[in-house]
Amino acid sequence: MLSESEGYDLLREYGVPVPAFESVTSPKAAGAAAERIGFPVVMKIVSPQIVHKSDAGGVIVGVGSEEQAAAAFTKIVESAKEYDSEAEIVGVIVEEQAAPGLELIIGGKTDPAFGKVLTFGMGGTLVELMKDVTLRILPITEEEVRCMVHEINAYPLIAGYRGMKPRDEEGLVQTILSVARFFEEAANVVEFDINPLRLYEKGSLAVDARVIVDDHPPELVIEDRLELPLEYFNPRSVAVIGASSDSKKMGYAVMHNLLQFPGQLYPVNNKRSDVQGLKAYRSVKDIPAPVDMAVVTVPANFVPMVIEECGQKGIPIVVVITAGFKEMGETGRALEERIMAIAKGYGTRIIGPNCLGLIVPPRGLDTTYVHESPRAGNIAFISQSGAIINTVVDWSLAEDIGFSAVVSVGNQADLNFLDYLNWVKRDPKTKGVILYIEEIKNGKAFMKVVEEVAREKPVVAIKSGSSTKGQAAASSHTGSLSGSYDVYMEAFRRSGVIPVHTLTGTFQVAEMLASPKGYPQGKRAVVITNAGGFAVLSSDYSERYGIELVDLPPEIVEEMNGFLPEFWNKNNPIDLLGDATDKRFQKTFELLAKHDDLWDIAFVVSFPNLVLSSEQIANEIVRFSGLTGKMIVGTLLGGDSMQRGRSILREHQIPSFEELDFTFRVMGRILWQQFR
Ligand code: ADP
Ligand code: MG
Repeated sequence: MLSESEGYDLLREYGVPVPAFESVTSPKAAGAAAERIGFPVVMKIVSPQIVHKSDAGGVIVGVGSEEQAAAAFTKIVESAKEYDSEAEIVGVIVEEQAAPGLELIIGGKTDPAFGKVLTFGMGGTLVELMKDVTLRILPITEEEVRCMVHEINAYPLIAGYRGMKPRDEEGLVQTILSVARFFEEAANVVEFDINPLRLYEKGSLAVDARVIVDDHPPELVIEDRLELPLEYFNPRSVAVIGASSDSKKMGYAVMHNLLQFPGQLYPVNNKRSDVQGLKAYRSVKDIPAPVDMAVVTVPANFVPMVIEECGQKGIPIVVVITAGFKEMGETGRALEERIMAIAKGYGTRIIGPNCLGLIVPPRGLDTTYVHESPRAGNIAFISQSGAIINTVVDWSLAEDIGFSAVVSVGNQADLNFLDYLNWVKRDPKTKGVILYIEEIKNGKAFMKVVEEVAREKPVVAIKSGSSTKGQAAASSHTGSLSGSYDVYMEAFRRSGVIPVHTLTGTFQVAEMLASPKGYPQGKRAVVITNAGGFAVLSSDYSERYGIELVDLPPEIVEEMNGFLPEFWNKNNPIDLLGDATDKRFQKTFELLAKHDDLWDIAFVVSFPNLVLSSEQIANEIVRFSGLTGKMIVGTLLGGDSMQRGRSILREHQIPSFEELDFTFRVMGRILWQQFR
């Protein structure tokens, strides 16, 4: 940690305003320095071990005379020694006392995946309590800095709140930019915070600077990955090394799921001549034809030999399902390095190890041991957890959801998220992508690639590890204010990825976006329902999730008066009342379709009753969707009686939900990404 005066010097170089100061080592010198600076002054302890000076009784403000300054020196040094007897006391800094102002924080930290990150927010001693901060991954533009300033909850205090004069927002923006430039250019600065930065009606002043340097800062590598040919994921022949007829073995289950593969399938087993009814080979090298992909289930210590043989056979891609590598500590890591070295020698690419492998339902390829292969569909699911794939695939069968691809990335010794993203981006069957992420190594490269994918196909991500429990104790406010989860969220936002917090949510968002109408064109919405209660809830949820309910213009209300009961609510949400028949919905839909320049999304919310069957309302929604290019979202509330209607909506690829909160939450997530 640099001393405060070193920190001030650095900041001043970058044009950040700091107070006049002097460092002293005796009471007498303190008095003289205070005299030169001008009273009152603030005095603070200088010690590399004391990070939070106030906590140590190491800050005295309002020192008004030479004598007081001398006394303050002694007091500060005593308190500091009492607070931490081991701490090395370098001296005391005497500085100009700044006028009171709005206390803000500007901080920075180095994220292991995404590099330097800048935070900004409400500062002072209550920062951790208020947690009113926002962050950006560097580099940053002036426009982004302006957004940061606007984003914090306390922004009204900057803009002028309840008769208070506005503060120097423009000066603040320039100061944040200067600080960003300082952080980017100072290669050895890994973390810092300026807390507080006092903001005035004119100008600002940094009255504390904590700068942490590391002479060997972690280096971020930006790797550019070449796109793999699509054929790598579309093999015509597959060998299963370790294929087995023993139902207790992994090699059995993998082989079993591959039996439906329409291409050539070659079991390899060094002890048997046939496996599950197919001729088996002792080694891949004995197979009398080319092999496009190998799947490996043999124990870890045999894997190097197997990879060697695959290399000799000229197999371009090998799925290593076997576990017992990097995830198992040092010996495993060494083994993983060995198989990578062998594979590299032959130009063989590796999926895994320690993974479930790959499922490409449209091709009938399933190298995993999932209980039952998933259906073909248009969503690609790339997951860092094999268990979650198992669960999701099982659940997708019941929910009638299909996949264009399912990938378990495993240890990512060779192929990683970037390669799979590059693949599904080009895969014509894939219309939407779901990522389950635990940790990404190369964040910057990830952002670049995923941004390209998201420009063409919606990408939805669920990131585990949002809890702050177990997060390493941080040495600065910035460190404790913004955990790595927040950095991921910011990275997602920047690259067009929609973050979702639940697994089922990811599928609902992805399915909606993969539907023919794709993204909504804006956030203006109308709600049409036959239930007053749901009308009110729809308003609540719209407000909560940032969806804008448009006012109905008088001419539309007038027209609707023509065919609706006298007591309809004449408002949006449009309540067609509990006795609404399909005819009433139909007329309303036709009118709204005619005026579809007024809105971007129509939510139809309906419950079952005796005058309106789920089939009827579903058919009306389908007709409505045909009349307009705008997005229509159905919410059919109820139990089994709504099933038929839901199936109709599904057949026509109209997004639909079974719970109202979900409808609005999912749309809110999408709009947040699109129209923030
Ligand atoms: P720490 O954060 O290590 O406890 P600071 O240097 O931030 O110590 O000082 C604690 C508080 O004292 C600041 O939050 C600020 O309110 C006040 N303070 C510090 N330096 C000055 C100064 N030069 N002028 C006015 N107030 C100051
Ligand atoms: Mg401070």
